Amino acid sequence: MQKRCIKAEYIWLDGTEHVQQLRSKTKVIVVNGGETVSLGNFGEWGFDGSSTYQATGHDSDLTLVPCSFVKDPLRDGESYLVMCEVFTPDNKPHSTNHRAGLRGLLAKCEGANPWGGFEQEYTLFNRDQQPLGAESHKFMRPQGPFYCSVGASVAYGRAIVEEHLDACLKAGMLIYGTNAEVMPGQWEFQIGYRGDNSENSGILEMADQVWLARHLLQLVAEKYEVTVSFEVKPVRGDWNGAGMHTNFSTTQTRDPKTGLAAIESAITALSQRHREHIAKYGHGNHLRLTGHHETCDIDTFRSGVADRGCSIRIPRSVSTSGCGYLEDRRPGANANPYEVGYMLVETICVKR
Ligand code: ADP
Ligand code: MN
Ligand code: MN
Ligand code: MN
Repeated sequence: MQKRCIKAEYIWLDGTEHVQQLRSKTKVIVVNGGETVSLGNFGEWGFDGSSTYQATGHDSDLTLVPCSFVKDPLRDGESYLVMCEVFTPDNKPHSTNHRAGLRGLLAKCEGANPWGGFEQEYTLFNRDQQPLGAESHKFMRPQGPFYCSVGASVAYGRAIVEEHLDACLKAGMLIYGTNAEVMPGQWEFQIGYRGDNSENSGILEMADQVWLARHLLQLVAEKYEVTVSFEVKPVRGDWNGAGMHTNFSTTQTRDPKTGLAAIESAITALSQRHREHIAKYGHGNHLRLTGHHETCDIDTFRSGVADRGCSIRIPRSVSTSGCGYLEDRRPGANANPYEVGYMLVETICVKR
């Protein structure tokens, strides 16, 4: 029978302290000529955990278990990006495998059908580790003109942003949009519900796609010798930090009959677990949540309609229509969307 070769990039999260990093390697897989590729085509694979801060040298083999995949938009030929969970030799999720936690939790609350929408902010750095734009004196003026800006004196790095957007679309991911951010060299993309109920906006799938989109962004930026920083406070001083606002809804919050009441009781539940959430919402987040820039300070929990100085914002459109979602503005740009998703599902769908 006719065979063909496909390229699969196996992607996983390592054990770097504080902020897990992406790792990946390529596997060529032989498939039958006319066969449509499914998850089953991507077999389990191993890697050296002692080189990723996930194991010691004398017992280093860990297992990659494929859990979702998209088309690889950047490679020639038939190619895929395969998101993997890491398992130990005795077949247990590795301690760094936070996807497994969210997956297990979701199985316990299926009726809630939680959806996630992540707004990923990031900062582009040049070879000298300066934000793009910093090499020009224009960076030295106060922030204000850069957010959603157009023009070479205010927007830096658009070619990368555009290539990344196209890549996510080609991959078939639920990319929602992009925008230039408040600090020069800082941008945002969103992954999540786009108003089409036939698309799967489940929080686990959206968290997978945030990691895949981060991966694609790094690859695109590599070509320009630019690095992508997910640091929450890339430049100290009077500059905005970088967050990962997380928009969240459930069957109840989306239902016009129960929406606002469900959102209010979700906010009450969130207010009672502020510290636990902050602990999972990114490294160094106290540098970002000072109360001087976006959102209130790290020790305060507040909510409000259309108020961007809050921990939780109810968008005006949601308050008007009586249903929809809430926005958790606390997660930092370097947070792990699996952990953020876990906390939201646990607090809003399980503990309430
Ligand atoms: P902001 O006004 O805070 O900048 P954005 O326009 O950047 O918001 O992003 C809006 C986000 O909200 C997107 O990620 C989108 O997928 C998400 N979203 C919209 N509706 C829902 C919903 N019902 N449930 C969860 N997320 C949602
Ligand atoms: Mn946004
Ligand atoms: Mn933003
Ligand atoms: Mn937002």
